[in-house]
Amino acid sequence: MNRRRFLSRAYWLVAAAHAWPVWAAPRLDRDPFTLGVASGEPSSDGFVLWTRLAPDPLAGGGMPPMTVPIEWRVANDERLARVVARGTVNAVPAHAHAVHVEVSGLVPDRWYWYQFSVGSGASRHVSAVGRTRTAPSAGTVTRQLCFALASCQKWEDGFFTAFQRMADEDIDCVVHVGDYIYEGGPRRDKVREQPLEPCMTLEQYRLRYAFYKRDEHLQRAHAMFPWIVTPDDHEVSDNYAGGIPDWDSPLEGFLDRRAAAYQAYYEHMPLRASARPAGPDMRICRALGFGRLATFHLLDTRQFRSDQPCGDREKHSCPERMDPARTMLGAAQEQWLFDGLRHSPAQWNLLTQQVIAAQLNLDREGGETFAMDKWDGYPVARQRLLDFLGDARPANPVVLSGDNHNNWVFDLKRSFGNERDPAVATEFVSTSITSNSDGADMREDLAHCLGINPHARYLNSRRGYVRLRVTRERLQADFRVLPYVTRPDAPIRTDATFIVESGRPGAIRG
Ligand code: FE
Ligand code: CA
Repeated sequence: MNRRRFLSRAYWLVAAAHAWPVWAAPRLDRDPFTLGVASGEPSSDGFVLWTRLAPDPLAGGGMPPMTVPIEWRVANDERLARVVARGTVNAVPAHAHAVHVEVSGLVPDRWYWYQFSVGSGASRHVSAVGRTRTAPSAGTVTRQLCFALASCQKWEDGFFTAFQRMADEDIDCVVHVGDYIYEGGPRRDKVREQPLEPCMTLEQYRLRYAFYKRDEHLQRAHAMFPWIVTPDDHEVSDNYAGGIPDWDSPLEGFLDRRAAAYQAYYEHMPLRASARPAGPDMRICRALGFGRLATFHLLDTRQFRSDQPCGDREKHSCPERMDPARTMLGAAQEQWLFDGLRHSPAQWNLLTQQVIAAQLNLDREGGETFAMDKWDGYPVARQRLLDFLGDARPANPVVLSGDNHNNWVFDLKRSFGNERDPAVATEFVSTSITSNSDGADMREDLAHCLGINPHARYLNSRRGYVRLRVTRERLQADFRVLPYVTRPDAPIRTDATFIVESGRPGAIRG
């Protein structure tokens, strides 16, 4: 028995002993797999499998307060004929009957299929069949890695057509950089009705995930690929910074609210037990390797950041933002990132994070206006990162971001104002899945930004995602956009393609 298995068994024995009776032969009269299945955190020998028992998803899940055993199996084939791993995991009320199975011992770099079941005989229920994959082993030089970069899926703003189209892509995984839910109160005046009260308690956050996860296109995108996820602000509270919530929320009790939000996030995402929150603290930053080709350095730009300077929002003048004590990642995470980059064996180092890293002047009158929630509110911390990239020269750093509800491409420079300064990295920002509804190819209020920010290479404000293909020679980013999300079933198209050649930071229009 390996150590991990021992620890997880020990945990469940303790949990089962002092908490809930075990329903050894569960008889559920309704399908409990209403929220679908998911997988994530691919390693070279396994991944995490996720599901949650919720026969009545909008009424607290509808499960009795009992421990319920769930069977899982992993196979080499779509019909689950050649099973290579199987087991039983207990769903407990303390985790809303959500389970995370960490499967190991599999073969690197191949697809697998999986399924959950609960009960037996006439009262047996089976989940949808999911597909997932392992990563190549650490020393391997893989031919390519393909993935979709996504963020920001406000339910009421539109249909999840982007996930419908993403599920048909030939990609290895999905990278989601946050705003998986939006925590606000009811909206009946938008594209889809969102009737729920604002999220403040664990029950309310859980309900919001259940509400979102009933969506068939979101479920299919989860069932087709492993996901690699990090939260942004709306999983907790709009623009929160460390222990400080948005403008409208009470400061008192915010850490309890953050604990509830992180708990619900963990419960509903295919994360490893190492990400299980302890009170208001959750380990979100981590590195995931894909052979020697690429490493994802997944960052957390919310939990440890200083408060936004000058009262947040867009500011024309804000000397406070230059305070050298201000931090975006926190000292420990920043050091972890620099160490990871310094020792990275990967040919491509993908800094996967939330808010725009590039300087982005929004001013219309020849001055300077910056958005305080982005790295523009943390310019000294950003300079440390860019100087590190320029001096230590880790291989091919590429920053992947979300949050902004626009597609952008930026050349990242130590000196943004200097057109002759060479790029030290390239940033790709993915638009939203639905947030801000249909959008436009060119927003009139942002068009001037391309002229006054010469390192900004591309802007498009339709909904969709970025499809990335990484090979030894180059990284290619295809901006996949939808003409509308206010009606279902829109077709998808590639609006633009950008390329980064290995060894040459900066984007080239394809
Ligand atoms: Fe968002
Ligand atoms: Ca956000």
